Amino acid sequence: MEQKTRLVRIVYGIPSDTTTPIVPPMDLSVAHSFRDTQQLIDFNEGKLSGVKYGRYGNPTQHAAEEKIAELEDADRALLFPSGMSAVTTTVLALAKEGQHVLFTDEGNRTIRKFMTKVLPRYGIGSTAVPVDDMRNINNHIKNNTVLFFSELPTNPLLRVIDLENLVGAAKKRGITTIIDPTFATPINIRPAEYGIDLVLHSATKYLSGHHDVMAGVVAGKSDLIAEIQEYRDVFGGIIDPHASYLLHRGLQTLCLRMDCHSKNALEIARYLEKHPRVENVWYPGCESHPDYEIAEKQMSGFGGVITFSLKATEQETSRFVDSLKIPLIAQNFGGPQSTIEQHAILAFYKDRTDAEKRGITGNLLRYSTGFESPKDVIEDFENGFRSISN
Ligand code: PLP
Repeated sequence: MEQKTRLVRIVYGIPSDTTTPIVPPMDLSVAHSFRDTQQLIDFNEGKLSGVKYGRYGNPTQHAAEEKIAELEDADRALLFPSGMSAVTTTVLALAKEGQHVLFTDEGNRTIRKFMTKVLPRYGIGSTAVPVDDMRNINNHIKNNTVLFFSELPTNPLLRVIDLENLVGAAKKRGITTIIDPTFATPINIRPAEYGIDLVLHSATKYLSGHHDVMAGVVAGKSDLIAEIQEYRDVFGGIIDPHASYLLHRGLQTLCLRMDCHSKNALEIARYLEKHPRVENVWYPGCESHPDYEIAEKQMSGFGGVITFSLKATEQETSRFVDSLKIPLIAQNFGGPQSTIEQHAILAFYKDRTDAEKRGITGNLLRYSTGFESPKDVIEDFENGFRSISN
């Protein structure tokens, strides 16, 4: 079945002796009651479906989980109240004291902080693998390495790692692989097709798609998901029914939205590549991107985020951003409104030294497409460039 059919197909369970609502009911009940003790025992023994207590799961949440599991070719998916909650719970469930985790050095700042600052406090080691050294991943694997984590594409330079190469190396050493394709979504890549064990998203972005839901998700085989669920139940990071409802609603239009984001981004990236005031453009759908070939092979679209640098000072770059009328200066992406961020100021304001080390200079911008006409956005950018030429 194609992704666009899966997105709108009703997957949530409704008893066959009643009519079926088209949208999953929003079930706000924190607990479900049992008719009698026998029914409770049947539930405990798995003979009766349903839910017991909200921290273990909720019917509206299950509807969104089932849809995402299907899209990712996974047995099961688990929702979380944020992408970070999905990352931290998954890693802490699967890596134990004395073990070691690998992650790619390009990526979300908070995830890197978790890997480098939080994990060691629990006796779990971590090593950042340079994206450009992924061919030699074997050199970074230790005897106690149990997990590998990477975004795909990564934030902010949209690097795309080779999944076949990764899975080949990881499987030989019994390492569990986790890919975070938040920027790609299951419309543009399905890591399970390459043998990746777990797929994790910040559903705050494209999956929900309207700048109004905080959520995270992890999907994979039942045994791994059961281990993670045990930790989710204990840590208590559970999504609420309202967020689950909105996420389910957003998912149904994911194909249409990603098609629009990817088309808009390609057109705008090509325009930026040719502009004399633009120094560099990172968009995996452009031939100039260092990972264009592998992105072409693995992805069916390249998403809506473009990173680019201006031939300008930090102050001129701020002036360019401030003169724009269309994109909002905001951290989130993946919604109808496009956003722009001068990454060093928006994401690294309190950590400029780290930003400089990572090549995140004051003239680097991350633009995320919305559904505005690319023609209007390009005109807006032209005005922005004029504002720093005078
Ligand atoms: N993964 C990626 C690729 C992200 O960009 C983000 C957030 O920006 C996260 C995970 C964390 O997600 P959240 O902000 O929903 O906690």
